[in-house]
Amino acid sequence: MGVSIDLSGKTALVTGAARGIGRAIALRLAQAGADVALVDLDADMCGPAAESIRELGRRAVALGADVADFAQASAAAERALAELGRLDILVNNAGITRDGLFLRMAEQDFDRVVAVNLKGCFNFCRALARSMTKARSGRIINVASVIGITGNAGQANYAAAKAGLLGLTKSLAKEFGARNITVNAVAPGFIMTDMTEALPDEVKEESRKAIPLGRFGTPEDVAGAVLFLASDLGAYVTGHVLLADGGMAM
Ligand code: NAP
Repeated sequence: MGVSIDLSGKTALVTGAARGIGRAIALRLAQAGADVALVDLDADMCGPAAESIRELGRRAVALGADVADFAQASAAAERALAELGRLDILVNNAGITRDGLFLRMAEQDFDRVVAVNLKGCFNFCRALARSMTKARSGRIINVASVIGITGNAGQANYAAAKAGLLGLTKSLAKEFGARNITVNAVAPGFIMTDMTEALPDEVKEESRKAIPLGRFGTPEDVAGAVLFLASDLGAYVTGHVLLADGGMAM
């Protein structure tokens, strides 16, 4: 049997797909042949990405949901299943930061970061795992962060949520392996998106110096790692954390 990155006939759901890394992942999966459901807080914000996917000749469904809200996540997953027929690939990408030194970190900033980055993943896995187990096939890819491995001053909430995501990933890989569902995480390093754009120049320069490849990553760099795990090439990889970080965290 040939092995390829061809995703023709496959369907995917990507959260946080309106911009940044999620948008690049949605487009990359569509370029490989997949039909894609794009989920973001505001469905209209997914419009341009959905249009680009349709221009590629693939189906695109734009859905609005707060991933942290179980009912909204379940409803969006149901809509995506109804519109696309089934879902082969789930990419939990939606994430936020609310940085601050721990002694000044507000309780709501801890709760919200955990709710979006960690519980959001639980919500969509819970909503779609049953249909994947019935189909005895599926790919779940969670977008974590190198900060979940290394920790970072000023990001205790984010590091905790992303580390939790790695534990969730490995546990689901063990539970679903027998059903032919792989569950992996991609841990980006410093990627040029709106999330990192706001950082002070000196922080950016310090970060760049710590990257062996000598450059910040692009959303497309992360999308390539996701495509590998979603494709036939990644068929025997599960419970893995794939660093897409230019060597930053090794
Ligand atoms: P981004 O540019 O800020 O985009 C995040 C997207 O997620 C936005 O479209 C945002 O919608 C959406 N979103 C936020 N909260 C949501 C919610 N509750 N429900 C649904 N959608 C929501 O971020 P990014 O840099 O592309 O990051 C994507 C993922 O990569 C995140 O999980 C992040 O933690 C991770 N990551 C990023 C980097 C990096 O250097 N950029 C590094 C490591 C890991 P709105 O536009 O409405 O806010």
